[in-house]
Amino acid sequence: MIVAVASGKGGTGKTTVTASLASTWGRPVAAVDLDVEEPNLHLFLKPEALREENAFLEVPTLPEPARCTACGACVDLCQFKALSLFGQRLAIFPELCHGCEGCFRVCPTGALVPGQRELGELSCGRTSEGLPWLSGRLRIGEAMSPPLMNQVRARMKALVAEEGVDVLVDAPPGVSCPALAAVQDADVILLVTEPTPFGLHDLKLAREAFKPLGRPMGVVINRAGLGDHGVHDFCRESGLPVVAEIPFSRAVAVHYAQGGVVAQMDEAMRERFTRLGESVRTLAGSRKEAAHA
Ligand code: SF4
Ligand code: SF4
Repeated sequence: MIVAVASGKGGTGKTTVTASLASTWGRPVAAVDLDVEEPNLHLFLKPEALREENAFLEVPTLPEPARCTACGACVDLCQFKALSLFGQRLAIFPELCHGCEGCFRVCPTGALVPGQRELGELSCGRTSEGLPWLSGRLRIGEAMSPPLMNQVRARMKALVAEEGVDVLVDAPPGVSCPALAAVQDADVILLVTEPTPFGLHDLKLAREAFKPLGRPMGVVINRAGLGDHGVHDFCRESGLPVVAEIPFSRAVAVHYAQGGVVAQMDEAMRERFTRLGESVRTLAGSRKEAAHA
């Protein structure tokens, strides 16, 4: 089972929820940080035995321009405008390339040769509790996060196949392309929000963005007790289950500020996240039942 922990905006407590669920999941689970622009799950899970490597994207180069007949086949194919013809001269914009490899295949003269664009870093290891952990970190200046996310997702799927673990994905905030890329493998999507007009606004956006995927969704309200009833009202009216509430308290804020996993704060909090895990598994079960109906 893959669970994506997402939110319509940053700062709602998404990573807190991911780390806390990982520490109380109760069966083999991996923690995967797909928020590659600002990965911070490791700050809570403190992984050890780290292995880090650079990640690259295969992009076209034209080492021998004379081999290009300017037929335009690669330009017509590339939907990302990474290739362009200026008269008889082919121009390549590697920073726009998404690495689909299509241009290599359509070139009739073999003029295009694979080169590399550095995307960032891939890291893997084990948390202090022995859980597998994966993360990507986008290179500063790299504009596109989905190609690096796809490499982390490929590792994640290999891990599931090898170790048979469940996966908790810390997704990037928002509802743009990276957020959608992060939730597309999920069996369940958890939407973390806070009970404020801002939280409500972004929760609505997230629900609309993820609804077409047809995955069960549940809402976690962080800083419960703060703000108003708008989020509760919206969840009730739209049939979104509120699967957990994390109370707003100074003790939680202090524990968080010290880099602690909130679920390990005390027995009550452990119990709260254990129950959240059970609710998530129930949501996942509802998807299976719907698929077999
Ligand atoms: S690999 Fe794909 S995205 Fe990149 S330049 Fe070629 S056709 Fe365009
Ligand atoms: S497909 Fe090959 S020959 Fe045609 S324009 Fe592109 S690089 Fe040149």
